[in-house]
Amino acid sequence: MRYSGWQVLAQGLMGNKGWKPAWRDPAPKPEYDIVIIGGGGHGLATAFYLAKEHGLRNIAVLEKGYLGGGNVGRNTTIVRANYALPGNSEFYSHSLKLWEGMEQELNYNVMHSQRGVLNLFHSDGQRDAYARRGNAMINQGDDAILLDREGVRKKLPYLDYDQTRFPIYGALYHPRGGTARHDAVAWGYARGADQYGVDLLQKCEVTGIDVENGKVTGVQTTRGAIRAKKVGIVVAGRSGQVAALAGMRLPIESHILQAFVTEGLKPVIDNVITYGMGHFYISQSDKGGLVFGGDLDFYASYAARGNLPMAEHVVEAGMTLMPMIGKARMLRSWGGIMDMSPDGSPIIDKTHIDGLYLNCGWCYGGFKAVPGSGYSFAHLMATDMHHAPAAGFRLDRFATGRGLMDEEGTGSQHNLH
Ligand SMILES: Cc1cc2nc3c(=O)[nH]c(=O)nc-3n(C[C@H](O)[C@H](O)[C@H](O)COP(=O)(O)OP(=O)(O)OC[C@H]3O[C@@H](n4cnc5c(N)ncnc54)[C@H](O)[C@@H]3O)c2cc1C
Repeated sequence: MRYSGWQVLAQGLMGNKGWKPAWRDPAPKPEYDIVIIGGGGHGLATAFYLAKEHGLRNIAVLEKGYLGGGNVGRNTTIVRANYALPGNSEFYSHSLKLWEGMEQELNYNVMHSQRGVLNLFHSDGQRDAYARRGNAMINQGDDAILLDREGVRKKLPYLDYDQTRFPIYGALYHPRGGTARHDAVAWGYARGADQYGVDLLQKCEVTGIDVENGKVTGVQTTRGAIRAKKVGIVVAGRSGQVAALAGMRLPIESHILQAFVTEGLKPVIDNVITYGMGHFYISQSDKGGLVFGGDLDFYASYAARGNLPMAEHVVEAGMTLMPMIGKARMLRSWGGIMDMSPDGSPIIDKTHIDGLYLNCGWCYGGFKAVPGSGYSFAHLMATDMHHAPAAGFRLDRFATGRGLMDEEGTGSQHNLH
């Protein structure tokens, strides 16, 4: 069923009785050409692009819970292409272009809103670093504008410009950055993949990976054994555990990251804002809630809930920057499990096991990567060749030390993680 304004009108007139489920609920087949482990944003996008770009059909996505229940439905929804380092820069630029065509491509409203991202800076040194980052973004073909203090004040009059400890010097403004509705992205890719015949198998946890003579032959699941010619591991915070099923030890640590939402308010924050002197970022959802977050909880864990000291730290940073939010009541908070890589950049690569592929290490920035990652991982799995924008995301860089992409400021910091 194609979604459109006419469809909404027609269904409304017919009592909304004609809507069809967005995807099927098939039984697992005994064998697939390709099995994707993990029904998050990256796994679903991979399945979609395998079908759409490479004409493959005999594919299953195996999800241990429900589609969209992982980090793809838990993040603070920021979408941007403001990376500085070669390797990351072209990848996120490619991903943002896919975002810009996503709703047409999927025929699904993911509420992608290019409302602009402003990274505040608070010292001369930080301004110089942001100027360099902005130049790298422009060289990559993306957009960046360096605003001075008055330029920021015109856009964000409600910030505290009188605070003397961390005065606001200006901001790096990225107009094409913004937000999207996170779980709709999972649902849109799920529906798109299903329409190409991909089997989406929920409540299907992978408990074993079968390897014979150095080649993957299938997986063991809670819904039975499934044979496969190729298997992709795309399980975000569970990457270490699932790779261990194939005897691999990954350079990944799993950490908790929290998000917070207030009661619904009238529109007040038009952009995405990040604080340069504390780990705090904020936007306002279409329902009116202020959506904000901070840093990791700083201990490894598989619990999808956070600790109170970090909640206090985040709220303090927010109050320092925009005291007006102190009047809002916080409604909800939750945690997600981040797959932190040592250099803050991801892995999209083959493994030493023939037919077994790995996609992980997205740290706390993998939502904006969903379309680019799915596209590049599908390219790798279908052709056994690295897709150019993601060619630097090799696993062996952590063994050799060559090609590390230490994107400080957006990825993990060695001294902290
Ligand atoms: C609080 C928070 C805020 C964030 N904010 C942002 C942001 O603003 N911008 C941004 O770009 N990124 C952000 N991120 C990061 C982003 O959400 C993640 O990097 C990204 O969603 C991870 O990829 P995914 O969607 O595929 O993961 P997930 O949705 O977690 O998908 C992985 C799936 O694998 C499944 N799985 C695990 N083990 C198995 C198994 N054995 N068998 C079968 N299935 C299995 C899980 O159930 C899960 O559904 C944030 C994350 C959090 C938690």
